[in-house]
Amino acid sequence: MAAPTKSRPLLDTETGLIHVRRPADGSHLEDVAIHTAPQVADIAARLREAQVEWERIGVKARAKWLLRMRQWLLDNEHRLIEISQEEGGKVRNEPLLETILMVEVIDYYARVAPKLLSPKQVRGTSPLVLGKRFTVNRSAFPLVGVIGAWNFPLLLTFGDAIPALFAGSAVLLKPSEVTPLAVRELVRGWQEIGAPPVVEVLLGGGETGAALVDAVDFVQFTGSVATGKKVAQRAAESVTPVSLELGGKDPCLVLAGANLERAANCAIYGGFANNGQVCMGFERVYVEAGVYDEFVERVVSKVKSLRSGVDEHSDVGALTSAPQIDIVDAQVQDAIDKGAKVLTGGQRLDRPGTWYAPTVLVDVDHSMTVMREETFGPVLPIVRVADADEAVRLANDSEFGLSATVFAADTKAGERIAARLEVGAVNINDFLANMTCAEVPQGGWKNSGIGSRASEYGLLKFTRTKVVSSSWLPAMDSEPNWFPYTPTRWRIFRGAARFVHGRGLGRLGIS
Ligand code: NDP
Repeated sequence: MAAPTKSRPLLDTETGLIHVRRPADGSHLEDVAIHTAPQVADIAARLREAQVEWERIGVKARAKWLLRMRQWLLDNEHRLIEISQEEGGKVRNEPLLETILMVEVIDYYARVAPKLLSPKQVRGTSPLVLGKRFTVNRSAFPLVGVIGAWNFPLLLTFGDAIPALFAGSAVLLKPSEVTPLAVRELVRGWQEIGAPPVVEVLLGGGETGAALVDAVDFVQFTGSVATGKKVAQRAAESVTPVSLELGGKDPCLVLAGANLERAANCAIYGGFANNGQVCMGFERVYVEAGVYDEFVERVVSKVKSLRSGVDEHSDVGALTSAPQIDIVDAQVQDAIDKGAKVLTGGQRLDRPGTWYAPTVLVDVDHSMTVMREETFGPVLPIVRVADADEAVRLANDSEFGLSATVFAADTKAGERIAARLEVGAVNINDFLANMTCAEVPQGGWKNSGIGSRASEYGLLKFTRTKVVSSSWLPAMDSEPNWFPYTPTRWRIFRGAARFVHGRGLGRLGIS
């Protein structure tokens, strides 16, 4: 086994290199050069030049390139998955989900983008615009910067670039320094299909990301709340719009009458998929007292059977980012110190790399960091609640509001609970269903973000509107509301406004 390289910094500003590691054993994988701020500005300038023609060719021609890229993704899926597994310490099903979702996003926008982006004719209803017609045109933000997190490096960079490219933007991608290689390979794919040079990748850490924010016209960011705020502040200096997909602390509510076998299977998938490094992963489970014991028993026996590893027989991989293991461990220790009980796991695995045992905690409460702060690791804390009201109250007691899951006796009961939850999506008896549907908006409430990805919102946010007005009546030399102002014109306008907007005798000025 290769030697761990723990002492070496990941981002080495002295040498200008990122030392990429294999989380599965801590060994060194590859060195890549960091892009400096002047290089970022040069690349941005080249992309801006290429974008002019990219927008001019129209959405149908752009769709042809994206559909070719879809085929490249399918043909090269194996290689992308291998790279992602190595740099991410993942089991292979997790990057497969990324390529499947990217392909579906391309298919969806190829179907709907031409209509959504086409000019819309609007007839105003106000007498003030009598005889006028309006056209709402859409024009792309020329250069979009996409900054992504390390947990799903492909989907959270190129996945967000797809609608921007359909809209007519050029795109600058900045994957995390922890996982830069799969995204670099994907951009090589864009070049390999011979597509116009409107996609580039930047390698580097926070400084490179900050230089990107300065260089673009729109920032699509996925990452932590703390970095998201920094990005938004920096973007505000140049009044650059941002869309932020931030952290989560998603609750799962298990209510009496629910299918407990499905709830338990879903809870362990929602809690441990991608080793718990999923923004919408279950980080808090609230279970009604009447079904608590049976639910916990089922969950614990299933978690004990999860297999840690990265081969094809494994369920749970390594933690992708090395510092993450300290965060996970500190939260578990804090919970234990405050009275929580570990039913399984609760410690690092004794092997090289960043391995933590899938963990179930009970007797937890909201005084513990594991119930309030994002864990982003393989920990499932379960709380016994008296009833659905308490479950809803505790689920809403969070700074985050990404999504939630409700297990209830039937859909109607689930929908009643869904209406009370302060989140951007609720999956009834399910996990991530909303995320796998390109047709619905995906965005968080509260500190979980602003803006949405997917659906028409995920496309149109990359465009600016331009309204063009004209008249279908023969042009007069002047308009009644132009100069000169006279008492008669004043009375006519005032009377007309009353007549149109007033009610009853008030329309005639009689109260
Ligand atoms: P970070 O916030 O640490 O980093 C996100 C990205 O921002 C990385 O590419 C990072 O680069 C970059 N960055 C860091 N500093 C700056 C800066 N000053 N200016 C511009 N860019 C900067 O998040 P993580 O990578 O640790 O990802 C985990 C987080 O992402 C979790 O909070 C998770 O919930 C969230 N997430 C949210 C999702 C959603 O859809 N809502 C989906 C997936 C994850 P570098 O890594 O090189 O420092």
